[in-house]
Amino acid sequence: MQTGNNHTPVRTKPWNFGMLSTEEFGQQEKELVLGVLEKKRVFRYYGKDKEQSEAYRLEQLYRERTGAKYALAVNAGTSALVAALIGAGIGPGDEVIVPAYTYIATAAAVLIARAVPVIVEVDDSLTIDPQAFEDAITPHTKAVIPVHMRGVPCRMDAIMEVASRHGLLVIEDVAQANGGSYRGQALGSFGLAGCFSFQQYKLITAGEGGMIVTSDEKLYERANIYHDSAFVYWDMNEENREPTFPGENYRLSEINAALALAQSQRINTIVARLQSIKSAISQGIADLPDIRLQTIPDPQGDVSYSLVFYLPTVEMSQRFSRKLSDEGIPNGTINNNGFADRHIYKNWTYVMEKRGASERDTPWNCESYKGNVQYSPDMCPKTLDWLGRAIAIGLHQHMTEEDCGDVVRAIRKTAGVLS
Ligand SMILES: *Cc1c(COP(=O)(O)O)cnc(C)c1O
Repeated sequence: MQTGNNHTPVRTKPWNFGMLSTEEFGQQEKELVLGVLEKKRVFRYYGKDKEQSEAYRLEQLYRERTGAKYALAVNAGTSALVAALIGAGIGPGDEVIVPAYTYIATAAAVLIARAVPVIVEVDDSLTIDPQAFEDAITPHTKAVIPVHMRGVPCRMDAIMEVASRHGLLVIEDVAQANGGSYRGQALGSFGLAGCFSFQQYKLITAGEGGMIVTSDEKLYERANIYHDSAFVYWDMNEENREPTFPGENYRLSEINAALALAQSQRINTIVARLQSIKSAISQGIADLPDIRLQTIPDPQGDVSYSLVFYLPTVEMSQRFSRKLSDEGIPNGTINNNGFADRHIYKNWTYVMEKRGASERDTPWNCESYKGNVQYSPDMCPKTLDWLGRAIAIGLHQHMTEEDCGDVVRAIRKTAGVLS
């Protein structure tokens, strides 16, 4: 590893790309946000002209993008998941299958809906393993949440096939894969509902915000009721066939909606850039014998802001990661990265310990729950193995050909020294 005269890093120029989302803030964002201030309308249900609302226009864009019949703007991705689960009728006594690698919010949403998350392995795509999903089904299972992690589409054909064979609902978590697709179909449109996030770390942002898309009228109406405790009173024109029940306040403000609208209009351009960047780098390292590129179930639908590859052992991946950093390319291993990453199930402390807001009444100990789900930090060894051997490099739409070349050269140099 220390071969003496390799002291000059491949990359000496600083590597300072901002976030995917906020780096794009420009004229369009300013115009739409200022437009809201000028209209003096920051609340979507103000007045009768609901079609002038930014939130309405945003919903319309997501209906068009996904082909879904309905869209409901909410104030966060977590809110979208909770309202979609409750909208789908999921609640006490139900088990919902989630992947071992996803943001903790996915599992939290299940618990907030009073259901029990069941954690299953991901495969080398770092998305839910369809076989592990099927193996985890019990008489209590009601739904599965495939999560398109790091912009990578899940194996939706296999997941939909298992779900339909067992009569299970599918709610897609598209928080990290806005703009992605699988076999030409927009992510979020496979399941009964798809849930997006506009938080700052996602592809595009509104600061905070989320979106539910669905073609199921009943889910849409129930999600509407849950997202606003007085929904039926604001939106009198909507004929609600579903009986009302108490909801929260998940409404999206017009300022956030305007920002999300400006940002969402950029998605296709950003994704096209990212795809060409990722494909150039992947091709440049595909022949390296010790490097195994992440399996992408459909490369054409990959949002492509994340490049992941695996080394043969955890120890090698850690050495590789350090060496690649020394070459001037920021990267990280995914497991054992020096902090308790809340995207990895073993760090979902309140889930692992089955803790709720009140110990007297949790989804696990409530009367309706007849199952017996167990959790432990080592319950998904395959997931921990993939994550432990993975090296991740964050890509950015502003990367040039030169930047891509630096990444390829640095990876090739590191691989040459380490093998
Ligand atoms: C960010 C994220 C969420 C939650 O979205 P928020 O807008 O932060 O509430 C849910 N699931 C995944 C996979 C995420 O990455």
